[in-house]
Amino acid sequence: MDHTEYIWHPFTQMKLETQPIKIIRGEGAILFDDNNKSYIDAISSWWTNLHGHAHPYIAKKVFEQHQILEHVIFAGFTHEPALNLAKRLIEDHLPENIFKIFYSDNGSTSVEVAIKMAIKYWFNRNIPKTKIIAFESAYHGDTFGSMSVSERDAFTKAFHKNLFDVTFIPLPLKGQEEKCNQAFEKAISENDVAAFIYEPLILGAGGMLMYEPASLNYLLQKAKEKDIICIADEVMTGFFRTGKMFASEYCEIKPDIMCLSKGLTGGTMALGVTACAQFIYDAFYNDDKMKAFYHGHSYTANPLACTAALASLDLVEKEGFIDSINIIQSQHQKFAETIKQATHFENIRQRGTIIAFDLKTNSETNYFNSSRDILYRYFIERGILLRPLGNTVYLMPPYCITAEQLQLVYASILEYK
Ligand SMILES: *Cc1c(COP(=O)(O)O)cnc(C)c1O
Repeated sequence: MDHTEYIWHPFTQMKLETQPIKIIRGEGAILFDDNNKSYIDAISSWWTNLHGHAHPYIAKKVFEQHQILEHVIFAGFTHEPALNLAKRLIEDHLPENIFKIFYSDNGSTSVEVAIKMAIKYWFNRNIPKTKIIAFESAYHGDTFGSMSVSERDAFTKAFHKNLFDVTFIPLPLKGQEEKCNQAFEKAISENDVAAFIYEPLILGAGGMLMYEPASLNYLLQKAKEKDIICIADEVMTGFFRTGKMFASEYCEIKPDIMCLSKGLTGGTMALGVTACAQFIYDAFYNDDKMKAFYHGHSYTANPLACTAALASLDLVEKEGFIDSINIIQSQHQKFAETIKQATHFENIRQRGTIIAFDLKTNSETNYFNSSRDILYRYFIERGILLRPLGNTVYLMPPYCITAEQLQLVYASILEYK
């Protein structure tokens, strides 16, 4: 059966791409197709999976919850999984200044909520601040709000006239810190900035671009001096991708709002969290009904998704979990040394469990670089799921990946000609 007879796939030119691979089951870091061919999922299925596919513990917990309560309206009603998850995130994991959890459905909506919270915060206080600052090359999602704060690129070209104005500043990449700081200081010179949104330390879809905590800390410091709401989009970086629970932990200055999704449920179900500081919440808490936050989705705080997230946290908090992070990290570090010798890759960069490098080409490093399809097919043929961003190859494996599986991935990269 041709699946594309009925399905329109995301991020896919349906006319040009080959048939999608039909996956029957998953186990640990491995996916199996309908011919029982296996694939090492070296990108955690679009950066979502933490503990491996079809994890029996998460499956058991979700199954148990499903027999009690699958879903309930979240306005006027609440439930244990939503409460337990919010309490646990705030008390045990998020920075100390984080005070409340607002639920939604995915990464884009968690960003959408964050932007709306920040803008209405100033509106409720009767202070005319609406300007938003974001990084060039940023990716915050595919809805109109999240597209607005993302790099205006070929993907979003059709919508540029419909997006709201955002002030973009260059990234503080090595050697460009001064350029970034100057642009930032200029952008905040008038008292009209509502919020600064950023992907802490690693810009994911923008090409796995990495920058230093000290550079971010400097920007956050400047933002704080001007009362600018700092929004950390940790949708990709959250849950130990960078070696710590959240990338924001590398910085002394904490964000006022944090966006979580992807790894939140261990990669099991769609769920979004926008976590905020008390002063934000307080600006909505009022006798005036119109100051409330009028936003919500029908599946907000779905009990099954919250249960999957709680089960994933159980696994994160288990003894030995951090060892799996450290092992991937040190293997990546060793591999970084090896791949430096390979002449056709450059810009090798690594933080935590993510390693990225660019295939040298004559054309520009970007998503539409023609080597992307060749690389993608090369790895798929070898039973490895890597989905290069243009000529940028990166690894972001589930934490259960074995040393042997990781070595197989490394070897196939080194064998690429
Ligand atoms: C993937 C991603 C998003 C969007 O999340 P979706 O769940 O795909 O909507 C937002 N921000 C960052 C940093 C991401 O990597």
